[in-house]
Amino acid sequence: MTTPAPFDKIALLNQTFSGLDDEELRDLASLTELHTYPPDCVLCHEGAYEEVFYIIASGQAETTKKISDNEGQRLLRMAGPGDYFGEMALIQKAPRAATVRTVSDCTVLEMGKADFEAMLSRSPRMALSIIRSTLDRMRSNDQMAIAELQRTNKVLAMLDRNKLEFIQVAAHELRTPLTVIKGYMSVLKFNPGIRADATLAEVLEGIEKGSERMHEIVNAMLDVTRIDSEKLQLHPVPVPVKSVVNDTVRDVLRSASGRHLTINIEHDADTPTINADPTMIQKALYHLVMNAVKYTPDGKEVTIRTRPVVMDKNRPGVEVVVKDQGIGLDPEHHELIFEKFYQVGAVALHSSSKTAFKGGGPGLGLAIARGVARAHGGKLWVESPGHDEVNYPGSTFFLQLPVDPQAPDGAARA
Ligand code: ADP
Repeated sequence: MTTPAPFDKIALLNQTFSGLDDEELRDLASLTELHTYPPDCVLCHEGAYEEVFYIIASGQAETTKKISDNEGQRLLRMAGPGDYFGEMALIQKAPRAATVRTVSDCTVLEMGKADFEAMLSRSPRMALSIIRSTLDRMRSNDQMAIAELQRTNKVLAMLDRNKLEFIQVAAHELRTPLTVIKGYMSVLKFNPGIRADATLAEVLEGIEKGSERMHEIVNAMLDVTRIDSEKLQLHPVPVPVKSVVNDTVRDVLRSASGRHLTINIEHDADTPTINADPTMIQKALYHLVMNAVKYTPDGKEVTIRTRPVVMDKNRPGVEVVVKDQGIGLDPEHHELIFEKFYQVGAVALHSSSKTAFKGGGPGLGLAIARGVARAHGGKLWVESPGHDEVNYPGSTFFLQLPVDPQAPDGAARA
């Protein structure tokens, strides 16, 4: 560190804080010291409590911030003569929010914390000028962050599209051989030799169940690509929600015949018929009821209730509530479980049966169910006190659908 020849501090301070009178400038100059630093010298250390305010007289310094271990440092700005830094940590009494490093020989005016604070209280004009430039800097940092987010968002959307395309191709490629396998199996099923052999018949039944499960997964993959790529075409007709619920429960009970669970159905007498795509509604309900069965241990109950509701914007709607006495869900997963392929906990721990307690799935059911709800102008959410495999607090899924997805708002109609 060297001290250079006399320097016109007043001229620099006048350039930095416009509008200060001569006395303020003189006061300020008397409290600063001039120092010169070589390139690559760190003046502010991110995270450290430091007590110096700097004004650049000549040379340049860069401000960088650590984003993450992977991304390293991000350049926030380059500062040159007349720019200052280090004031935010002093005002906030906080650690440095970024690192400042000289990129050339850099001469700076330095002021200690006590003098800086005294000067701020003596000169409202200086305080105002600092506030103004700090706000400008924050606004430009905001704009930088927003631009960065927009770029990242575009990349994520592109990756998501690629993923969807891959799922779609994979599902189509799997469907053809699966159909062939199923065709051959139905031939084998009627073969007298196999029918007569108990072991072979059992093996065939196993293959059949396996290929049915694969078929279901392939269909779920196709459903999710349709929903996600917004290619979902609704064919709305009057759908009697009560009977769709009853049929769904019957289907699920048939698949889960080995499980010892009670499924209660409670329909409000006024549960309306809605205008909706019946296949889609049936799929959404199937995933919800199947999940309730999958994540509830034997001996417990699942209850499904339907009732009329008034949705947002005064739209008349129907609510289907699927309440289980299962393992429950911690709040941090309440939104994430609706993302495709999201599963709570270690996937490897899940069994592969579709109805076994905690039986694994591809993580698509809830993404499909929410997609269906949204495509109809409805919503789907979960409430649960948390995950607990001792006390089984349970989860409650709420599906709300408008009576008529294409109708204008109820308020507007009324
Ligand atoms: P999966 O095919 O894995 O069941 P879903 O999209 O249907 O996929 O569900 C995503 C995750 O949400 C599941 O892996 C599970 O961890 C959690 N989940 C869904 N339903 C319930 C429920 N009723 N109780 C507890 N956890 C649930």
